[in-house]
Amino acid sequence: MAKAIPSRSENYSEWYNELIRKADLAENSAVRGCMVIKPYGFSIWEKMQRALDDMFKETGHTNAYFPLFIPKSFLSKEASHVEGFAKECAVVTHYRLKNAEDGSGVIVDPEAKLEEELIVRPTSETVIWSTYKNWIQSYRDLPLLINQWANVVRWEMRTRIFLRTTEFLWQEGHTAHATKEEAEAETRQMLDVYAQFAEEWMAVPVIRGAKTANERFAGAEDTLCIEAMMQDGKALQAGTSHFLGQNFAKAFDVQFLTKQNQLDYVWGTSWGVSTRLMGALIMAHSDDDGLVLPPKLAPIQVVIVPIYRNEEQLEQITAKVKPLLQELKKAGISVKFDDSDANKPGWKFAEYELRGVPVRLAMGARDLENGTVEIARRDLKTKETVMFDGLPERIKALLDDIQQSIYNKAKAFRQENTYRVDTFEQFQEQIEKGGFLLAHWDGTSETEDAIKDATKATIRCIPFDQEPEEGVCIFSGKPSKGRVVFARAY
Ligand code: AMP
Repeated sequence: MAKAIPSRSENYSEWYNELIRKADLAENSAVRGCMVIKPYGFSIWEKMQRALDDMFKETGHTNAYFPLFIPKSFLSKEASHVEGFAKECAVVTHYRLKNAEDGSGVIVDPEAKLEEELIVRPTSETVIWSTYKNWIQSYRDLPLLINQWANVVRWEMRTRIFLRTTEFLWQEGHTAHATKEEAEAETRQMLDVYAQFAEEWMAVPVIRGAKTANERFAGAEDTLCIEAMMQDGKALQAGTSHFLGQNFAKAFDVQFLTKQNQLDYVWGTSWGVSTRLMGALIMAHSDDDGLVLPPKLAPIQVVIVPIYRNEEQLEQITAKVKPLLQELKKAGISVKFDDSDANKPGWKFAEYELRGVPVRLAMGARDLENGTVEIARRDLKTKETVMFDGLPERIKALLDDIQQSIYNKAKAFRQENTYRVDTFEQFQEQIEKGGFLLAHWDGTSETEDAIKDATKATIRCIPFDQEPEEGVCIFSGKPSKGRVVFARAY
């Protein structure tokens, strides 16, 4: 059979695009940079949402919903915020169309011009803080711990499906606190939630750290992030959590009466992850035959394919498999019995491989006689014949094993592709081969920019687990007290 998709080594970027198309996850839409998420892709996103939402609720947050449109004047209230987002805003100027007088079609009705233009939200800090002003009067109203699931629009010039799209789906948490310490703790807590989700659900190991001033969110005092390595050695920023200080409280005049009966500005945080995580999931684990999904996020965890020559055999296999299906469903395992006669077993095997179903069972006439079944795991592509009895326990254990083993594989890959470099020559040579480079940096934006201009590598983060180490900056030779993580990134 002809290869369904180009290999990773042939063309990583084409492999990614083709995989998304062939595995039926998503496709590009008529509007440049916007995507259609197809049912199979969306069911993975829904699983992500559910797990994250549970984690947000466990940490005390509730969901709410704020409007899509933001008055232009709101966006301008926080100076660095507007400066950061101005270049990528979609702006609504009119509210009506009309038929052109010359019959050439519909045109924007010039008489239906909005008095104040509206921005399609690129992020919701401004509309939310303008609302918080009405909700917060005293320390008793704090903390306010709110999340929203929404779509946002950022007019990105270079887009790539899932990783960087013009419109994307995400969640954005927006919290308000009485003290700086509390807001800082919240910022860190939510980063840890993201890291836990990435590692335990997506099976993607991440580095936790702080962004440099250059890479900080527009309007934040500090941006924390998780960074993951993709299979081509590039970095992907997979989630961010921002400490906003009192910036938005000051911009929207959100003050509260403290316990000591004094007026003070509220402290804020915001944090978000997006459909970019779908891209991270695909790029981190999948192979030349298709998707490799961690069992916890796989829409179908187990597929059972009957191999039969006639109706009678199919009936016998079906009778044998039915109680197993029920037992697996009862155990919370999503299972599909593919008895459609539209396609041959070989075609089905390839199709489920492409879609990343973690476990495949195949059962034929000889298995029926012997009380056996063939069980195959997607990640390692190994298969063995095992006894039919005791399958539910075996499958549960296998799903756990796959979850852990793809995490271990990704972690080992990251370790193998992380290098300590001490000179700029080494740096330039290594960055061409990809990977994370741990190097000394003098702490200035000028040096960071100069390294980026020369190598296209950016500082992904100043890792929390940075070891104190006296050294000199690879670029300027100035003193440095620890290594930061450099990489080329998506
Ligand atoms: P930010 O508000 O810029 O901190 O971004 C919040 C989250 O959205 C981060 O996890 C980003 O990785 C993600 N994100 C930012 N821009 C895009 C985009 N154009 N497409 C998809 N995800 C994005």
